[in-house]
Amino acid sequence: MKEFVVPLLVLSHAYAVSSLKRVCEQQLEHGLLNLENVVDIFQLSLLCNAPRLTLISHRMILSNFKAVSATEGWKSMRNSHPGLEKELLESVIEEENNQKEKIRKSKERKIYLELFEAMEALVHICRDGCRTIGPHDKDFNQNQTPCKYRACKGLELLVRHFAGCKLRVPGGCIHCKRMWQLLELHSRLCADSTSCRVPLCRYLKTSVISL
Ligand SMILES: [Zn+2]
Ligand SMILES: [Zn+2]
Ligand SMILES: [Zn+2]
Repeated sequence: MKEFVVPLLVLSHAYAVSSLKRVCEQQLEHGLLNLENVVDIFQLSLLCNAPRLTLISHRMILSNFKAVSATEGWKSMRNSHPGLEKELLESVIEEENNQKEKIRKSKERKIYLELFEAMEALVHICRDGCRTIGPHDKDFNQNQTPCKYRACKGLELLVRHFAGCKLRVPGGCIHCKRMWQLLELHSRLCADSTSCRVPLCRYLKTSVISL
């Protein structure tokens, strides 16, 4: 079957023997298709109207582009069907851009999530107190069970730094700058500044500080 699969595919297509054609397609799909022949099979699948095979070989080309573009099959396609080569190159570039976009989006999501968690922890610390810091009117002890707010520990350090930093002005030090940003962002998003325990919440809402 192995050596005849390609001629059989062509013949079964030409004579409309659909059951044989299906067998050939399956044989290719499940093992006979490889990096060496994928460009030929891709072209053949277009000629023989075998959309599933087209899709599978197209995917294989895109995900192994470097290796595939060095094969004899690719070189001869470049000579015989330059238009097809161009189309494939375009889809390779599109695929790369999609990947980049995906990475960019996931980074963005991560930053957003971190920010969200920091804001949550800020409200939590100012409202409940946690470990070593919190509002003066709360009792809190240092041996509590681990805090459920993931950003709490980091924020605790940040608040401690903020309280002691000599450069505590917007833009003066990166840690303090982060703290100012959190405070400002919190205040912008806070639904109820009148009862909010976060420092400067109400103040920042009414004033514009550029950081
Ligand atoms: Zn906490
Ligand atoms: Zn600082
Ligand atoms: Zn607030």
